[in-house]
Amino acid sequence: MAKKIQAIRGMHDILPGQTALWQHLEETVRDLFHRYGYREIRTPILEMTELFKRSIGEVTDIVEKEMYTFEDRNGDSLTLRPEGTAGCVRACLEHGLLHNQVQRLWYQGPMFRHERPQKGRYRQFHQIGLEAFGMEGPDIDLEVILITARLWRDLGLEGLELQLNTLGTPDERHRYREALVDHLRRNRDGLDEDSRRRMESNPLRVLDSKNPAMAEIIAGAPTLMEYLEGDSRNHFEAITRGLAEAGVEYVVNPRLVRGLDYYSRTVFEWVTDRLGAQGTVCAGGRYDGLVAQLGGRPAPAIGFAMGVERLVALLETLEGPPPDAARPDAYLVLAGEAAAERGLVLAERLRQQLPKLKLQVNCGGGSFKSQFKRADRSGARLALVLGEEEIERGVVGVKWLREEREQESVDQERLAERLQQIL
Ligand code: ATP
Ligand code: MG
Repeated sequence: MAKKIQAIRGMHDILPGQTALWQHLEETVRDLFHRYGYREIRTPILEMTELFKRSIGEVTDIVEKEMYTFEDRNGDSLTLRPEGTAGCVRACLEHGLLHNQVQRLWYQGPMFRHERPQKGRYRQFHQIGLEAFGMEGPDIDLEVILITARLWRDLGLEGLELQLNTLGTPDERHRYREALVDHLRRNRDGLDEDSRRRMESNPLRVLDSKNPAMAEIIAGAPTLMEYLEGDSRNHFEAITRGLAEAGVEYVVNPRLVRGLDYYSRTVFEWVTDRLGAQGTVCAGGRYDGLVAQLGGRPAPAIGFAMGVERLVALLETLEGPPPDAARPDAYLVLAGEAAAERGLVLAERLRQQLPKLKLQVNCGGGSFKSQFKRADRSGARLALVLGEEEIERGVVGVKWLREEREQESVDQERLAERLQQIL
């Protein structure tokens, strides 16, 4: 036998038993975003490598070691998108979507990062993200965070913690950076190799280190909060005030810096302790410099991205059967040749009469018993039975698969009406 080919490490099939939950999440998010006036944008999965280098930043984990980059047949360097914001901004600039107007957009789809695969961390994973352009905030910052808070409520998720920080303006960050580098230099001996390098190239990223050996040095570092001036302070306070008024709890985490370079002022993450080490399910912030950095007229912007795999894992911990849009209402059992022929016609008539009906028809024959087994496995609530006797009498048997109820015999002419009553 030929050797079986397997999926690429860190890239996963989402099987039919799992897609119901994915769809439930996707539909809930889509509905929510539309209620706030955000519209979907779809961009290619491949972009010029340069786009990510310029937006995410050369000295970041993503660009330094996580991107899937290759030369295509023309010799262009292309990269499978590791995140969605860069492509979204590129598309907006390319199509003039930011000229004298605000844009509220969202996107979803697969992202690619060559990380070490583990629970909650994959090489192909999915994000749903949202971006708001042309608004300086803090009102829009607040709206964006409130959308995420409402999403957890819509999904029935509990126990998520909102962590909030501000990265200030580039000027404020510059002054802070000097103080931080001083602190890191004084503690050079305790830094790991990565951080020593980062200390010179991108010191704020040291704060994002996940190495426990460095926790103390990081905890003792000065915080950016101390270097904020009036405007940034007011911006931040307006958000915390708004959150308090809306009844959304938060904690200020001065170590929250985010792994991408384009952020300014507001940054936030939603974190859970129910998923082990990979507990951040949503991360975002303001990135006022990015549009200009990619060649556009400066435009303020804020957004976030959610990790779909991690949210699905959280949804799996909820009690009760997951909603499944593909579960049939009824399964049509067909006994005998005449029924097999009549079955599809009957089914089509029902579908015409009840456009919302989810009806699965037994195809390929089989004994009564095996058909009922399939009916049961389909998850349907009802079995509709059409056999020789039913054809002769012009009726259909209606059998309850999940409830203790008496089987009914319903006139074929009145079946649609009866099903409507039941469902
Ligand atoms: P982390 O600190 O977990 O590496 P990150 O800062 O790299 O996250 P972002 O680039 O901000 O993550 O992406 C937003 C969200 O996308 C994350 O909060 C997470 O939920 C999800 N995510 C990021 N990388 C992965 C991955 N490799 N596999 C699964 N989900 C991911
Ligand atoms: Mg990462």
